[in-house]
Amino acid sequence: MESVTPFKEVADIIKEEGGDAFKLCYQCGTCTAACPWHMVRNFPPRRMIHQAQLGLSDFEAEDMWLCVTCNACVQRCPRGVEIIDIMRALRRSITSLGVAQAPDALRMTIKNISSLGNPLGEPAEKRVDWAKDLDVKTYTEGTEVLYFSCCIPAYDAKIQRAARATVKILKQAEIDFGILDGTENCCGESVRKVGDENLFQRLAQNNIAIFNKNRVTKIVVTSPHCYHSFKNEYPELGGKFEVWHFSQYLAELIKEGRLKFTQEINKRVTYHDPCYLGRHNDIYQAPRQVLESIPGLELVEMAYCRENSLCCGGGGGRIWMETKKGERFSDTRIEQALEVGAEIMAVACPYCMSNLDDSLLTSGKEESLEIRDIAELVQQAL
Ligand code: SF4
Ligand code: SF4
Repeated sequence: MESVTPFKEVADIIKEEGGDAFKLCYQCGTCTAACPWHMVRNFPPRRMIHQAQLGLSDFEAEDMWLCVTCNACVQRCPRGVEIIDIMRALRRSITSLGVAQAPDALRMTIKNISSLGNPLGEPAEKRVDWAKDLDVKTYTEGTEVLYFSCCIPAYDAKIQRAARATVKILKQAEIDFGILDGTENCCGESVRKVGDENLFQRLAQNNIAIFNKNRVTKIVVTSPHCYHSFKNEYPELGGKFEVWHFSQYLAELIKEGRLKFTQEINKRVTYHDPCYLGRHNDIYQAPRQVLESIPGLELVEMAYCRENSLCCGGGGGRIWMETKKGERFSDTRIEQALEVGAEIMAVACPYCMSNLDDSLLTSGKEESLEIRDIAELVQQAL
């Protein structure tokens, strides 16, 4: 295995990312214990922080790409160390300094995003094909809501069901909404987490310019990753918008009586908290309120839920990298859902849907469990 050689520049990059927080680390190891990787392999964030403090690193190159940015360690660190920022800076330093390369699959994805604006390598003009038969208008100035679908539902036929259900619900609630014309690009959230800051800035600036040109004020998103970047990262670049995750928006529509359920879903359902909705943005209640409002549905919790939810394995750019069998968190998540007798695992993130769909397929448990987006369940019950 390739070994990363010493570098001092990491301290400068971390400083540029927003401070000297890593100097606070007193090596207690809480982060290593909190990290989901400890379930499946040796990956000690504590040691990586130590190496970064010393301005050097001689760990395995593969370790640099393992962090799924799930925030479990940051939430528990007693010293407030911004561990994800350090991981991001480590990645940025080794790639920008040419000390080591990113994994092949990641490099290919970054190339796709850079040249075509999406991770799947599809043409930009096909970005809105998923909505062709749904009679959705193109967003123009004065439209109340911009619906931003995320690249994965836009291009991946298996995940499109989340975006299509969302559109049907918005129509039923008579919301004045539109989608963009395909000139928008990936939100860039994962690009930033893999350390390609320049590309992130370019993607964000392009989207902000398009939103501003169309006088967008309110954005509803399917992906917690889009939510996180639009809400917490775009303002740094001058893009200030009212951002709603679809689960929050749905909870409001139901509260206001704009959606009326007519069908029961008599199933035992468990909800998988996505890291970027829960731990990163404190949204735990809205998706549960939506599910609990569906007639007949019984909501059960897995042992790892809310702040302790188990990452699907897709954050931090891991969605684009190969994870060995036996090391996939989503496989464990399927087992956890089955342990509580769930017939449906409800999700609220395209990355989670993609990973959990794959794990369900390889587990051979499709007879016992289904993976459904919250929007799909709501649409079914309307
Ligand atoms: S939990 Fe915080 S203080 Fe403890 S080792 Fe990890 S980064 Fe350092
Ligand atoms: S963010 Fe998650 S995956 Fe990354 S080091 Fe922290 S606990 Fe581990």
